[in-house]
Amino acid sequence: MARRKKVYEGKAKILYEGPEPGTLVQYFKDDATAFNAEKRDVIDGKGVLNNRLSEFFMQGLNGVGVPTHFMRRLNMREQLIRAAEIIPLEVVVRNVAAGSLSKRLGIEEGTALPRPIIEFCYKDDKLGDPLVTEEHIIAFGWASQQDLDDIVALALRVNDFLSGCMMAVGIKLVDFKIEVGRVWDGDFQRLILADEISPDSCRLWDIETGKKLDKDVFRQDLGSLSDAYTEVARRLGVIPHNSGPVARPTLIN
Ligand code: UDP
Repeated sequence: MARRKKVYEGKAKILYEGPEPGTLVQYFKDDATAFNAEKRDVIDGKGVLNNRLSEFFMQGLNGVGVPTHFMRRLNMREQLIRAAEIIPLEVVVRNVAAGSLSKRLGIEEGTALPRPIIEFCYKDDKLGDPLVTEEHIIAFGWASQQDLDDIVALALRVNDFLSGCMMAVGIKLVDFKIEVGRVWDGDFQRLILADEISPDSCRLWDIETGKKLDKDVFRQDLGSLSDAYTEVARRLGVIPHNSGPVARPTLIN
């Protein structure tokens, strides 16, 4: 069998050429990195859980009319996605102050924000993904004003959907990051949600106890990352309630 062609390798995922033109295979690795890859480790089973969780959220979003790149899950670590031209922005949506917002503006972690706040960071690891304004984005041609309006609308719909999913299982959606891609239907371009939605790219706090159930467990050495992600997957019904800690035996199909 011919070897698949690798198109791109990032910190947590690999993209391979897909079976048909316009498709890609997205492979979820077990690698965890933080602080711009200064801290790194391999967390057994993380890729399997993120593949399943991202499938769950993207399928749900497709179901409520939010367009995403997700087509179908292929196996434990891979999903078939629609190829898109990624806009070089990390779009962050915040409901509660935490992380870099708290540091930058001196707002205590956990403070509810008066409304969801959207921030844009320029995707460039060498520069540490700096915060940018709409002025930068338009002046440097990363996206147009129309794109930005569409991105904000998309990000807020994702926030409503994800906040609801999480609230229903006793989890507060503090903030999250999405990436957006362009696809072409003939001469018309559309924007779709790309990349992944998983506890790697969200802050998730237990509503009752405040316990962190996201990548901050790794960033701040708070315990087992795979236990935290397994708990999120179990609460959402993505994996059975009686499965083991990393739940690999029950994740075969
Ligand atoms: N985030 C991400 N990738 C990044 C930077 C941030 O997925 O490269 C997510 C992060 O997990 C959090 C949200 O975006 O849910 C806001 O992150 P923040 O700006 O507070 O940065 P951090 O404190 O993670 O450096």
